Amino acid sequence: MLIECYECKAKISDTAAACPHCGALPPDSDKSLSVVVTDLDMNFMTIFWFMIKAAVAAVPAVIILYTATVVFQGVVSPFLNH
Ligand SMILES: [Zn+2]
Repeated sequence: MLIECYECKAKISDTAAACPHCGALPPDSDKSLSVVVTDLDMNFMTIFWFMIKAAVAAVPAVIILYTATVVFQGVVSPFLNH
């Protein structure tokens, strides 16, 4: 549906985020803004929990890597010293 831009009076889509002619936000931009903020909030929490899970999952990996490095050095260093 086309609506009239309240700034430049051009015909713009009511689904447009902003007027393509003058860049004015539609009168219901407050509603759109709150949706965007909610989305950002949810994305932030998703990323936050992903980082927590990644940090927890990284602990065994670090232990395995450390153990493997120690074992590898223990196996290789006698050959290097002789
Ligand atoms: Zn406009």
